[in-house]
Amino acid sequence: MSLKKIGVVGAGTMGNGITQAFAVAGFDVVMNDVADAAVQRGLATLSGSLDRLIKKEKMTAAQKTEVLGRISTSTELSALADCDLVIEAATENLPVKLKLFAQIDSTVKPEAIIASNTSSISITKLAASTGRGDRVIGMHFFNPVPMMALVEVIRGLQTSDETYGAVEAVAKAVGKTPVQIRNSPGFVVNRMLCPMINEAIFALGEGLATAAEIDEAMKLGCNHPVGPLALCDMIGLDVELAVMQVLFEGFKDPKYRPAPLLVEMVEAGYLGRKAGKGFFDYR
Ligand code: NAD
Repeated sequence: MSLKKIGVVGAGTMGNGITQAFAVAGFDVVMNDVADAAVQRGLATLSGSLDRLIKKEKMTAAQKTEVLGRISTSTELSALADCDLVIEAATENLPVKLKLFAQIDSTVKPEAIIASNTSSISITKLAASTGRGDRVIGMHFFNPVPMMALVEVIRGLQTSDETYGAVEAVAKAVGKTPVQIRNSPGFVVNRMLCPMINEAIFALGEGLATAAEIDEAMKLGCNHPVGPLALCDMIGLDVELAVMQVLFEGFKDPKYRPAPLLVEMVEAGYLGRKAGKGFFDYR
């Protein structure tokens, strides 16, 4: 099964990065979001990212024009009807995704594969909300998508070998390294990464050190390229909280309880880079 035309639902942090990765690799992509403003923001981010590649002489202006020419946008899911693979990268919220999966299922051609970029939500549950569970799979990219090599390919209970094979091949075609993972809360990377970030937020909330000091300590002490709090700002505090809630509810283990400071910062709208403020200030 060869996947040629790609639909991306959600044009936020991940959606525009996924769109860029596929369009740069030569695929036609339709990028969808609920609001035109979100689509335009996604396109502007993507265009800025290509400009940085031009500056670094990794792309020419003519190539950028070609890449943008392979991308179309829409606020209607009907524009995805003839896509071979639809990658859902909408807000990390179970009711939103369940509704969206049912809508995508009733819109796209029967043989199409529907993938979710969810950070933590059960692929088996998402698959069950469609009439094509065997063609539903997790395709978990990492942020920033154009730079990060890994794609966790998550098999729900219903996912067929054929679907897995097609998605593994398309992940390689965009230059990524796929790793096969069985469905489980948080999969592999976020099951370890998000509790570590959550613990850094506990440390900050308990006044052990400042945000800058915690990050400096983890960079110098563990050789991490980015500190956990700066990384959380990049991921989005709302996304980190959503993952911790899925881990907490999924495993029923108090070790996954979200840090109170994380909950409060999300309540305040301090969602990280995308909001201009998180643990650090970006305004
Ligand atoms: P985001 O908030 O930046 O973007 C989400 C986008 O989805 C928004 O533009 C929103 O308008 C759109 N959206 C919401 N409902 C929609 C609908 N019904 N139809 C179409 N679009 C809709 O979020 P994000 O960080 O890009 O995260 C998207 C997904 O990717 C989440 O499932 C998240 O867990 C996952 N993810 C995030 C990261 C990260 O580092 N941010 C990494 C890996 C995976």
